[in-house]
Amino acid sequence: MEASAGLKPKRSEFTLAAVYELSSSPASFSSTPVLARFSADRGVAELRFFQDSNGFDFNLGSFQLLKLGPVQSLCICESSDSNKEKLYSRGVTIRFRNEEESRDFHSAFEQWQNEDFTQGSNLPNGTISSVRSKFDNKIEPSSAKMYFHYYGQLLHQQNMLQDYVRTGTYYAAVIENRADFTGRVVVDVGAGSGILSLFAAQAGAKHVYAVEASEMAEYARRLIAGNPTLGQRITVIKGKVEEVELPEKADILISEPMGTLLVNERMLESYIIARDRFLVPNGKMFPSIGRIHMAPFSDEYLFVEIANKALFWQQQNYYGVDLTPLYGSAFQGYFSQPVVDAFDPRLLVSPPMSHVIDFNDVKEEDLYEIDIPLKFIASVGTRVHGLACWFDVLFNGSSVQRWLTTAPGAPTTHWYQIRCVLAQPIYVMAGQEITGRLHMIAHNAQSYTIYLTLSAKMWGPGAEQGGILQTSSCKLDLKEPYYRMSQPQPYTMAQEQQPHQLLQAQDIMIHTDDLEEPELLQQPLEKSGAQLQ
Ligand code: SAH
Repeated sequence: MEASAGLKPKRSEFTLAAVYELSSSPASFSSTPVLARFSADRGVAELRFFQDSNGFDFNLGSFQLLKLGPVQSLCICESSDSNKEKLYSRGVTIRFRNEEESRDFHSAFEQWQNEDFTQGSNLPNGTISSVRSKFDNKIEPSSAKMYFHYYGQLLHQQNMLQDYVRTGTYYAAVIENRADFTGRVVVDVGAGSGILSLFAAQAGAKHVYAVEASEMAEYARRLIAGNPTLGQRITVIKGKVEEVELPEKADILISEPMGTLLVNERMLESYIIARDRFLVPNGKMFPSIGRIHMAPFSDEYLFVEIANKALFWQQQNYYGVDLTPLYGSAFQGYFSQPVVDAFDPRLLVSPPMSHVIDFNDVKEEDLYEIDIPLKFIASVGTRVHGLACWFDVLFNGSSVQRWLTTAPGAPTTHWYQIRCVLAQPIYVMAGQEITGRLHMIAHNAQSYTIYLTLSAKMWGPGAEQGGILQTSSCKLDLKEPYYRMSQPQPYTMAQEQQPHQLLQAQDIMIHTDDLEEPELLQQPLEKSGAQLQ
């Protein structure tokens, strides 16, 4: 990571006798030993202080270190707010354990401050050194900015806290597995409001490091300070898990890194990086396994709804303008949006299959490209409109194992389910094999491009010699979903009215044969909690 190859190694860690923040009231001073650590963060040297229940950092570029005495120094920040007079906005007094430590600290400060971490002068071909973190190297800054701005707002944290299936399952998994937390060091990866850190402290954690990159870290500090019996065992550290330093290793990681389709937001990768950076060998991960479940579905209403959105562009006289040149692009655009809503599991055409991601041993790079071969046997004859997906995660506690599931038919979560809709549906008969591929490629806007192909294999006598009958593909952007939850769900009328009766004139006629055995589509609504796994 460091660009200093060839230079005398710099000392990066010091134990200080005490650190006093200048702006704090004397009552808040702590004279317990403080760990000071120099590091390079995105090409900028930083100095971080860690106390037993707190952590704060300074960007060395704007700091001066002044000697007050043989074992005492002052570190102050020159504010750039005013160019007329020098303003010093922040500072700390540092007390060293002895004179030698003071000397070493001053020389390390100078070395770190003067070093240009952004130049790769010692590297071949003048390459820019890789002091940028793994996160910065793969994520577009504008995407990260919007992402952390979003999570910095209480309303979005509240939305997750109010998903009681989610938060309740985490609470139960932690509290029922006290043995995994009691007396242990915990890291909360992407702590948000700090709720999981507080749960871990409730379960008896010795100490929790709550790492949060967004402005939510400040709210988490306040929430934690307001719960002092738990809060005294929690340290909030603002920063990315890819970049922050922690004073000790963790026995257990807790995190809620799941996005739609499990992998959206690419935060699983941060969870894996946190594992590699902070977890002791054979430490526990809460959750430890994630599974993506997939099954083909049939939903004429949804298909027609999406196809109809593009009809606007079929107008040949829109204020005298022919819009049809853009019809094809609009049609494609609508079908490139994965649909997020809660659907009835009776729309599934076959039992689901699943793809397991084991957080204990998956490599971060394995998540850059996820390629899943698909194979299903249709339970009914129908028209397949695409692939439905959902996920679950496992808390593999020593006392109790718990799954958090987002399956259709199970209590709804804020993740709902996701459906990739094919612009060209395929016809299948009961017993027919459906094959295909779900190929997801991560992109630098914290999401994935999805390539889906579904094919119906030849069916009936002679199938062994036959190949693919029909095939249909689509490309979708997981970053641009169509949130459909606010729309009225049409499934209540499904018992009286068959889907094909609602088809529009421009739609292809469905063959009556295809609806011969539509049990999955016709079960009464009350039974919707079908077991899927
Ligand atoms: N743990 C909280 C919040 C979960 S949402 C809860 O369960 O309620 C995920 C949080 O992780 C967000 O607040 C987001 O800002 C944070 N986050 C995402 N990527 C991160 C990273 N690389 N480093 C630190 N925090 C991150």
